Amino acid sequence: MREVNSQLNQSVTVLKGIGAETAEMLSEMKIVTIQDLLEYFPYRYEDYRLRDLTEVPHDEKITVEGKVHSEPSLIYYGRKKSKLTIRLLVGTYLIKAVFFNQPYLKNKVKMSEIVTVTGKWDAHRQTITANELQIGPNRKQNDFEPIYSLKGKITTKGMRKFIGLALQQYGGFIEETLPSSILKKYRLMGRHDAIKAMHFPNSQEDIKQARRRFVYEEFLLFQLKMQGLRKFEREHSQGISLCYDLKKLQDFIDNLPFPLTNAQKRVVNEILKDMKSPYRMNRLLQGDVGSGKTVVAAICLYAAVTAGFQGALMVPTEILAEQHAESLTRLLEPFAVRCALLTSSIKGKRRVEILEALMEGKIDILIGTHALIQDEVTFNHLGLVIIDEQHRFGVEQRRVLREKGENPDVLFMTATPIPRTLAITVFGEMDVSIIDEMPAGRKTIETYWAKPEMLERVLAFVEKELVKGHQAYCICPLIEESEKLDVQNAIDVHAYLSMYYQNRFKVGLMHGRLSSDEKDAVMKAFSTNEVQVLVSTTVVEVGVNVPNATIMVIYDAERFGLSQLHQLRGRVGRGSDQSYCILLANPKSEVGQERMKIMTETNDGFVLSEKDLELRGPGDFFGKKQSGIPEFKIADMVHDYRALETARNDAAILIQSEAFWTSPDYLSLRKQLEESGVLSGEKLD
Ligand code: ADP
Ligand code: MG
Repeated sequence: MREVNSQLNQSVTVLKGIGAETAEMLSEMKIVTIQDLLEYFPYRYEDYRLRDLTEVPHDEKITVEGKVHSEPSLIYYGRKKSKLTIRLLVGTYLIKAVFFNQPYLKNKVKMSEIVTVTGKWDAHRQTITANELQIGPNRKQNDFEPIYSLKGKITTKGMRKFIGLALQQYGGFIEETLPSSILKKYRLMGRHDAIKAMHFPNSQEDIKQARRRFVYEEFLLFQLKMQGLRKFEREHSQGISLCYDLKKLQDFIDNLPFPLTNAQKRVVNEILKDMKSPYRMNRLLQGDVGSGKTVVAAICLYAAVTAGFQGALMVPTEILAEQHAESLTRLLEPFAVRCALLTSSIKGKRRVEILEALMEGKIDILIGTHALIQDEVTFNHLGLVIIDEQHRFGVEQRRVLREKGENPDVLFMTATPIPRTLAITVFGEMDVSIIDEMPAGRKTIETYWAKPEMLERVLAFVEKELVKGHQAYCICPLIEESEKLDVQNAIDVHAYLSMYYQNRFKVGLMHGRLSSDEKDAVMKAFSTNEVQVLVSTTVVEVGVNVPNATIMVIYDAERFGLSQLHQLRGRVGRGSDQSYCILLANPKSEVGQERMKIMTETNDGFVLSEKDLELRGPGDFFGKKQSGIPEFKIADMVHDYRALETARNDAAILIQSEAFWTSPDYLSLRKQLEESGVLSGEKLD
């Protein structure tokens, strides 16, 4: 460690007023050193500037100065509860300010005096629900009080004091981390000033500029890590060069039941090029539902086999594994490729046989669920791993499968279109291929939003399709009745529809609690059209492919996210017939209504995913933390998207430049990159 840094690396206990007990509490907030303290930024600022009543939207925070217009009235209710109401003349407006449970304020407020009130503005009632009162004019006019996320007995005031001390005594040791060229180029605030401004801003502009600097820095460092990793892998990874047999591949493609779309051809070429190269492929294949990723996977797996290697395809559900195993077998068996299925419900003798055959190299392609990543599964010479619906798997699971062979090439597939924003951050170290074209002859799915009262009409509509020989899905959020939630469940809906369509159509039931044999039987019956209506939970959400199904009815649709609705809708419209999606929903919230509306307006998965991200935020987007979405301290991937793009471009240029690796101007960034381990090929997590 360098001299200066060691100053900032001292324990916070060197500051006056921080003893062992306080230090303990601070350490729970991950503040141990002076540096940690200085970099513990507020998550927001209380803004006490006066605002014009007519310009403040309903429910927003507001501070006003006004003249007390009537004697305050105080009423008590319940035990110890009270409400104090004051009428205030603000400019020419007469409004009310109410204070809950602060009866003692009554005596402080005098008729005709000026007071300043801060609180939430109810524009309809022309009332401020106040949480702060200053007697006299606003004294905090220029004050942006930082609000920290605090633990234990640490108070905002205490925090400000500690940080103030730290700045005073150690501020001089704060070193610049960004190169001067970048500071100049974007007119960014220096690190010392920015840290100071974050904690003790003089103005809104101050906060904005300080934040701008840290957002950029955070993104730049993140992108440098991502791209450093990618560069490292490109240069050092000992991948396999899969020398596939082009003639055999061409023959296989010529024998497919349909010509490939141009987009499919393009991505196949991109993937094959990676496979042939000695780099280890690390590629993401994105394509909306129904764009035909499975056949691309089949071609690539076959390519690996013709090169003398084994392939593996991992999918998130058993239903999907079975379906893929079936279609791959159908496609590849004529070409003497041996496919096998492995899921956790394949047990006993059969399992042992498969594992042995796999080890001996007698199986060419293994298709399965996460059963594939168990210890006992050993490949003979694994060359290509494909992970379908990759966001369903955690970082760890993906890694384990990748490590099954000697650096196999890896292809991730996803039908959840990843918003550009997330793609840059989550997959920054990957190459990306996109299928941006649907097979010819597809009709746009028509989507309708119906209120639950219209169920009868919906069912009549479904019947019309059934009469034509088509099939339908009915999706419910729950398996069985719940006392807590008033939503539709598959078991009841199945019973109801069985009655409704009695003697005319067969209704099947599918959910996650069925045994895999039962699931298998139901799925088979539906795909062979023995069953016309399939009532199911979201277990059929991904991948399921029954092209004759043309109707998707989703009960309580407001309970699903946009991406999920889009996936469900993607179960229909897989053939050349007109398909329909009906959302049965009565959303109370505005966001819920917005979601239904946008579903009826667009079929574009990318548009929907951007919208979903906006409505739900990045943390929720994939549902789980483990999906590898990085967390930023200050930056916000959605709102600071422009900065993210800039940082990404800058990082790409820097990584390739001579200066970055040699000039002292970049020393700090370089050091941080080294410390993160990416330059020695360690993964980020
Ligand atoms: P997804 O990308 O959602 O996994 P699938 O691979 O399941 O999509 O393909 C959806 C349907 O489209 C399947 O029935 C498949 O056979 C068919 N399909 C795929 N590619 C083409 C093509 N080029 N032309 C016509 N149909 C295709
Ligand atoms: Mg698929």
